[in-house]
Amino acid sequence: MLTTDHGDVPTPVFMPVGTQGAVKAVEPRELEELGAAIILGNTYHLYLRPGTRILQGAGGLHRFMAWNRPILTDSGGYQVFSLSDLRGLSEEGVEFRSHIDGSPHRLTPEGAVDIQRTLGSDIMMVLDECPPYPCDEEYASRSMNLSLRWARRCKERADSTVPLYGSGQALFGIIQGSTIDRLREASTRGLVDIGFDGYAIGGLSVGEPASEMYRITELCTAAMPVNQPRYLMGVGTPENILESIDRGIDMFDCVLPTRNGRNALFFSRSGRVNIRNARYEDDFGPIDPECACYTCRTFSRAYLRHLFKAREIAGLQLASIHNLSFYCWLTRSAREAILAGRYHAWKTAMLQSLNGMDEQTPLTHVGGDSAS
Ligand SMILES: [Zn+2]
Repeated sequence: MLTTDHGDVPTPVFMPVGTQGAVKAVEPRELEELGAAIILGNTYHLYLRPGTRILQGAGGLHRFMAWNRPILTDSGGYQVFSLSDLRGLSEEGVEFRSHIDGSPHRLTPEGAVDIQRTLGSDIMMVLDECPPYPCDEEYASRSMNLSLRWARRCKERADSTVPLYGSGQALFGIIQGSTIDRLREASTRGLVDIGFDGYAIGGLSVGEPASEMYRITELCTAAMPVNQPRYLMGVGTPENILESIDRGIDMFDCVLPTRNGRNALFFSRSGRVNIRNARYEDDFGPIDPECACYTCRTFSRAYLRHLFKAREIAGLQLASIHNLSFYCWLTRSAREAILAGRYHAWKTAMLQSLNGMDEQTPLTHVGGDSAS
């Protein structure tokens, strides 16, 4: 259980991604109804647009977007390295040009904390360098040590400033070190020495094989404090999530459910459904008969297929609602199974079921989060 001033979050938990202060195609009231306990906002995007002046004027991100449950914000580092035109990386921070208008900007560890103070998120993340995958050991080592020094500066900044809107803000450290065991161990130890409210694993889900992701995840969680939240950033498929929960992860975020939903791909308890497939043309049953979401309670596969064929916006909304419902249901059910002491049996049955039904349509997924 995660405790914040905007409410408690039972874990494990899936956090829908609200890149620009909005979860694409899903309104906050729908997010509440489908059971989202916490959402994620992207510092890089919100800093560039609408900018900190507007966000502070609104009284923070919760009030600006009318979402009263917890919010986690990333530090902006991932997007600076993946989206912007990167101009310089130094001990001090990063210089980059906006992907929107080419304007020059500078982001430092202190600045990343200041921006997140302005956003007023319940959980802030440290600024880290995100090395490419694959990367050699020397680069990974230099990068990990820089991220560690930046993490210390973020912690010092957070300790010497206060939240702007009266509600508490936790700060999480981010473990780096590519797929090199000794670097991951050193990163985890270094962050735990500094002391954060929670620990995240960054730099995974960037193209490495799933077996590598699981190995590094296991190695990191083994070295993390047992009584603090553990967050695996940017992961992943339902299968990835179930395997990572098994390795001690509490928190997940990923654009997979919304991005694939907008691409006519529905997740279900018995596998993926590509609703454009002709076989659904006169299928008047729901996407997932066991799903309690608005989409499944109300609409047939035939109708959803029609919406996508006709390019109606409602198709994108209803698919996003269902897929997020499914992901939230999955982590909630994992929690129930853990509490009942039957996680392994549940996981085995669920993995079998998830691989059941449909054509294995390729997923649309590039790294963690991006501009789309
Ligand atoms: Zn549903």
